[in-house]
Amino acid sequence: PVDNPPGRIKRLNEAVINRIAAGEIIHRPANALKEMIENCLDAGATSIQITVKDGGLKLLQIQDNGQGIHKDDMSMVCERFATSKLKHFEDLQQIATYGFRGEALASISHVAHVTITTKQESSPCAWRACYSDGKLKPPKPGMSADPKPCAGNKGTQIVVEDLFYNVTTRRKALKSASEEYNRILDVVHKYAIHNSKTSFTCKKQGANTADVHTASAARTLDNIRYVYGAAIAKELLEVQHDDDRYEFKLEGYVSNANFNTKKMAFLLFINHRSVDSANLKRAIEAVYTEYLPRGTHPFVYLSVEIKPQNVDVNVHPTKREVHFLYEDKIIENICGALQQRLADANQSRTFYTQS
Ligand code: ADP
Ligand code: MG
Repeated sequence: PVDNPPGRIKRLNEAVINRIAAGEIIHRPANALKEMIENCLDAGATSIQITVKDGGLKLLQIQDNGQGIHKDDMSMVCERFATSKLKHFEDLQQIATYGFRGEALASISHVAHVTITTKQESSPCAWRACYSDGKLKPPKPGMSADPKPCAGNKGTQIVVEDLFYNVTTRRKALKSASEEYNRILDVVHKYAIHNSKTSFTCKKQGANTADVHTASAARTLDNIRYVYGAAIAKELLEVQHDDDRYEFKLEGYVSNANFNTKKMAFLLFINHRSVDSANLKRAIEAVYTEYLPRGTHPFVYLSVEIKPQNVDVNVHPTKREVHFLYEDKIIENICGALQQRLADANQSRTFYTQS
């Protein structure tokens, strides 16, 4: 065609750009849910209720009791790079919220239908609006797109419907609703354990009973027991370590030599973000080889707090990875602390059985 001879460069149109960008952040329902749970926690919620249909592909609904969104911000909330959390690039060095880029809701609105109902404490009523492609959208053709007043409690409810309705390849790749639901439960479990003060509920739409329900102000150990069972919970060692040299702090629960499982359960939070670290995982497995039968693995939940200035959170679109200074040393010292804890526990066990 004349308007695009081969080899010439053309600008993509904005809708295409946004859909491509969304694909990098939202791969599947569980990613969308993780982003939304983090928003609830950023908003100070103490209760988060999740409802799911067809593994989140048909419906993903999340209700919190956090601070809500100001009515005047509702036109912006799904816009890319619109955020209430970051102002200057330098703030990233000590960001204390999960979010900072204002990309999650925008991304979701490019690949799903979004409805937000929200109420701030000071507002006399709640407000509801629908979104598509980053912008307000009329709930029905011919209606106004402006937020409408409605009844509601303090907090925010976000309804995401027909995820990937406009991305055929992605929808085809996610065939099994039960597989997607399991991934959703996995996200809820991890956040429930790490945020035990907040109550989490997750259920399928129309179900009478919830698949996850944790109490508000529960203890971490209660939630581990609830999710992983009493058999693990009674074999856990509490770990704690303060490291002045590399300026990090370690807390968590790890299984002792009496417990093992076929697949390692590894819950890692760095500065409260659920992240992956293949290097740390490998190093911890090595520590346990001394204590566990071959081919079996431990349960490990670790919360590592590293001086924010030493952590870069902006290295991965899904924030699944963070980079930090002194990685090798920090991994070495975490493993040292675990080794020590396991050795102490093992010694007192030997002593106990001998006496
Ligand atoms: P980010 O979290 O990086 O700021 P998001 O796209 O996740 O970007 O959210 C955009 C903005 O919408 C947030 O900065 C916040 O002001 C608001 N927001 C989103 N979810 C909630 C919620 N559950 N409660 C209150 N405000 C919210
Ligand atoms: Mg966010």
